[in-house]
Amino acid sequence: MSTWNGLIDSGYRRWLPVTPGTPSVSLNEGNTPLLRSAHLSALTGCEVWLKVEGANPTGSFKDRGMTVAISRAAQAGAELAVCASTGNTSASAAAYAARAGLTAAVLVPRGRVALAKLGQAVRYGARVVEIDGTFDDCLRVARELADHHPIALVNSVGNELRLAGQRTVAYEIVDALGDAPDIHCLPVGNGGNITATWGGYRVYQQEGLSTRSPRMWGFQAAGAAPLVHGAPVAEPETAASAIRIGSPATWDGALDARDRSGGLIAAVTDAQIFEAYELVARRDGVFAEPASAAGIAGLLDQHARGNLPPGQRIVITLSGNGLKDQDASLRGGYTATETSAATSDVAHALGLAA
Ligand SMILES: *Cc1c(COP(=O)(O)O)cnc(C)c1O
Repeated sequence: MSTWNGLIDSGYRRWLPVTPGTPSVSLNEGNTPLLRSAHLSALTGCEVWLKVEGANPTGSFKDRGMTVAISRAAQAGAELAVCASTGNTSASAAAYAARAGLTAAVLVPRGRVALAKLGQAVRYGARVVEIDGTFDDCLRVARELADHHPIALVNSVGNELRLAGQRTVAYEIVDALGDAPDIHCLPVGNGGNITATWGGYRVYQQEGLSTRSPRMWGFQAAGAAPLVHGAPVAEPETAASAIRIGSPATWDGALDARDRSGGLIAAVTDAQIFEAYELVARRDGVFAEPASAAGIAGLLDQHARGNLPPGQRIVITLSGNGLKDQDASLRGGYTATETSAATSDVAHALGLAA
């Protein structure tokens, strides 16, 4: 039996910007489940796979980049790792910093982060700075801090290490399926992940490890869709907080991935996102956070518009874990039957014959 020891030590060291002297700061991230979705395959007439990134150690794909960024920060002797975050980057930075014995400082937009993500950052021991403003303000401040102080900025902007780590998702998919899919769907916020995923497919094709690269289909929430409109959105609004970003830092990379792959970046409404969020939990048993469902919502939307040829092999990134957003999971309430503790009452409530 072989043991998985994370992206640097087990999987993809040769593709990562690390040297023999780089310590591996790892929580055994990566190697996430790739599940075939019978339901989505039947709905679309395609072969649909789900890459369950919520299975990463802190519950999102951010861990793929963070193992590289924090390993290199540790190697460089940094003491303070700083990031701006809509939640998941802060949880990941805080965890990997804790593992490395560094301090993490996370800048988050006050009142706009899912509480469980904040709870992660707090428990991992990060210094939490709540800023009166949007994510975009937090990122501006983080970059300005990095310009003037000796800190390690671990946002994906200006940190190619994060994107290099995030490329590994494409390597895992090709290694599992034997070649690249026809289409790769994913949510788009800051634009880093579509850029990195596309980059990973390109590396594998150039190295002869796959014969092709997929069309990249990225989806933004309709109230936070600057890449779709072609202009920043001053007040981005969506209940999918992980993609509530008005001014994507990796703007050019995202458009490049779209155009060079012959893909698209389109908008989906919050109603479509929540429908997909409920669908994938109920039909596939995968609990993903709302932002994560944007890729599914987008795929179904393109199918409804007649833009999806049948028979395609499709991979959808489910970017984060549903446990991170309790507001979303119990939104609209839930139904439960209350009974006494008598077995007969419970049997009756379940409609079981006496
Ligand atoms: C960060 C994040 C995204 C958006 O990824 P970008 O690289 O910012 O485009 C989507 N979903 C989840 C769960 C995330 O944490």
